Amino acid sequence: MQAKAMVVTAPGRIEAAAFPVSAPGPGEVLVRTRATSVCATDVKVFHGGVGRARFPLIMGHEFVGEVIAVGREAAGRFGLREGDRVTPEPYIPCGRCAWCRTEHHYHNCPDVRLYGVSMPCDRPPHLFGGYAEIVTLVDGSLLHRVAPETPDLAACLSSVVGNAFRWVKTLGRMGFGERLVISGVGSQGLCTLAAALACGVGPIVLLGLAADEARFALAREFGAEHILAVDRDNALEAVPDLLGGAPDVVIETSGAPAAIRTAIRLVRPSGRVVVIGLSGGRETAVAFDDLVWRDVSVVCGKGQAGNVGDAVRLIDSRRFAFEKINNTIFRLDDLARALAATERPPAGFIKAAVVFDAENVPAQRAAGR
Ligand SMILES: [Zn+2]
Ligand SMILES: [Zn+2]
Repeated sequence: MQAKAMVVTAPGRIEAAAFPVSAPGPGEVLVRTRATSVCATDVKVFHGGVGRARFPLIMGHEFVGEVIAVGREAAGRFGLREGDRVTPEPYIPCGRCAWCRTEHHYHNCPDVRLYGVSMPCDRPPHLFGGYAEIVTLVDGSLLHRVAPETPDLAACLSSVVGNAFRWVKTLGRMGFGERLVISGVGSQGLCTLAAALACGVGPIVLLGLAADEARFALAREFGAEHILAVDRDNALEAVPDLLGGAPDVVIETSGAPAAIRTAIRLVRPSGRVVVIGLSGGRETAVAFDDLVWRDVSVVCGKGQAGNVGDAVRLIDSRRFAFEKINNTIFRLDDLARALAATERPPAGFIKAAVVFDAENVPAQRAAGR
């Protein structure tokens, strides 16, 4: 058997290739890929901007697949059977070092591997990324089984929703009735909204730009009560009115220096600002005197570690139509176009996904062909 894949042979170069599929080792699971969502990190990896990336590479770390073969040990460990759908966590930790034995920190493991980033495809079993028809889930993977009725386009967002739980629960330490501002309505902002609502957080104000109308519409569908376009409304004036006071927490997902400064000005004394957006090397001028006098904590951090279990439970609950975040669909052959759309989003774009089964393509959203 052979599996088709899109391979980044060197930064900026992508081509189709086929690889032999080998039987899984004792701790391994083979999955037939169902859907892979395109992450902004994929664009950075593609352009050679991620130091940990190894080429030639099959990218793709946000995916769901159907189990087609299970190694003996993996079957016992995960209770998996052929036909089950699983979504792996992107990080494959060593499981033994101090970081791996500390809750919520295993992505700091010095030996951590990363699907679709750090595992090149030039040695068997080759298939370590979601832009391949079949993926070998290696020993040590953290796998989550998905409920039968969960759409593939929602399940492949497990790590994105996991990130949201990290910002809300692990870094923001938020609970029922706390006031929250979410800055940025990308896929990460929308998932943060869902995770916050699931945790009982509220009231919530969502900040975006007037051009984000498609994202605002989905946010309203998810249950957002208060939405502000910061290029139309003055957030510093409007937010306290909408919330009935300054927010306890601001989660800043955009990375824009102006948005980070606004987040710090918005939060209440002794509040927390969670900054997770990347600024692309730009620096943000912050008056630390203000942080000291107002007793404000700024918390920064990477994506999920120990948060994907929460994410899969929420996705499986079907309370939020996460699949609508993946609103621009491509076939595997069109991965270069999917990356281009992620880099320069057309009007109405929220997030791209590659699907592998023609039946999986909602007709109205088939942007690929
Ligand atoms: Zn990602
Ligand atoms: Zn480790």
